[in-house]
Amino acid sequence: MQYKYDYLIVGSGLFGSVFAYKARQAGKTVLVIDKRPHTGGNIHCETIEGINVHKYGAHIFHTSNKEVWDFVNSFVPFNRYTNSPVADYKGKLYNLPFNMNTFYALWGIRTPAEAQAKIEAQRKESGIVEPRNLEEQAISLVGNDIYDILIKGYTEKQWGRKCSELPAFIIKRLPVRFTFDNNYFNDDYQGIPIGGYNKLIESLLDRIEVKNNTNFFEDRKYWESIAAKIVFTGRIDEYYEYRFGKLEYRTVRFETETLDCGNYQGNAVVNYTGAEVPYTRIIEHKHFEFGHQEKTVISREYAAEWQEGSEPFYPVNDKKNSALYEQYRRLADTECSVIFGGRLGEYKYYDMDKVIENALNYF
Ligand code: UDP
Repeated sequence: MQYKYDYLIVGSGLFGSVFAYKARQAGKTVLVIDKRPHTGGNIHCETIEGINVHKYGAHIFHTSNKEVWDFVNSFVPFNRYTNSPVADYKGKLYNLPFNMNTFYALWGIRTPAEAQAKIEAQRKESGIVEPRNLEEQAISLVGNDIYDILIKGYTEKQWGRKCSELPAFIIKRLPVRFTFDNNYFNDDYQGIPIGGYNKLIESLLDRIEVKNNTNFFEDRKYWESIAAKIVFTGRIDEYYEYRFGKLEYRTVRFETETLDCGNYQGNAVVNYTGAEVPYTRIIEHKHFEFGHQEKTVISREYAAEWQEGSEPFYPVNDKKNSALYEQYRRLADTECSVIFGGRLGEYKYYDMDKVIENALNYF
């Protein structure tokens, strides 16, 4: 059968855009469709008051993969932004990730040896030997005080589930350091594209046919008939018409405000770790690019369970959903004309660099 395109790429987020770029480079014909009016998926930025606003939540690029770093920098240079969030708990500020600054603010402790002893004592007292969930993992990593003040409230707001019901790997993303180093990531490379993420996506999709406002599911038969292969980056359960059941996702509602001041919170990211504050964090977008605009734009993030009509942001990789996803994955493995990619296609709490790495690996 003669197809019009080698690849139909459903979704123009990072996975779809990198795949499209590589396919085109390999001499393949490609069509990208996206149901939204813009490309870039959740890394899309909107310019407000000259500030690149991360419309679907903060995206901070970090990687230890030099190939990936060189790849993205070949499209747009990245700045030297280093993520160093601050946590607000009941009005008191603490540095993240958990490091000597945090331990000093919490316990007045000045040396690594004192901090290690304090955490070790709390760990021993908890009696946890082999952590079975996020709560146990957190306590055995950093002890009870930090768990209560900086982890429990934030995590339960973000995921809408008890820490004791969440997988341990989520908290392993966060470094614990016995140095005065507030860098949130351990990676070799980190930054934000100068001029915003749209530049990256626009360069990747340069000279590639893209149709926005185009929903695959509204004319599925047609889209399936025009390409030899489909690269699907949407929700895998929707692709299979929920035949094994619905996977759960978390969504985020953003309350974005423009303020008549140059600097609202002095940092790009301030987390509100207490359960009594309804939002998880406030992002002040200009700081990602060291902006000096007259005004500022902030977004409060409210986490909620995903429902049809909202944007899915995080897969919920707990036991129930992981088992359900496994059924979809086994089915996907039998396909030779569909490739699933990205956070939704692979139902995985992926970082941007891993998404790119996977897309590159196909070629
Ligand atoms: N986390 C926390 N307290 C914080 C920030 C993060 O306990 O102040 C935990 C929480 O469980 C969260 C995980 O660390 O789900 C990962 O946080 P990260 O900021 O990496 O998440 P993302 O930026 O992807 O939303």
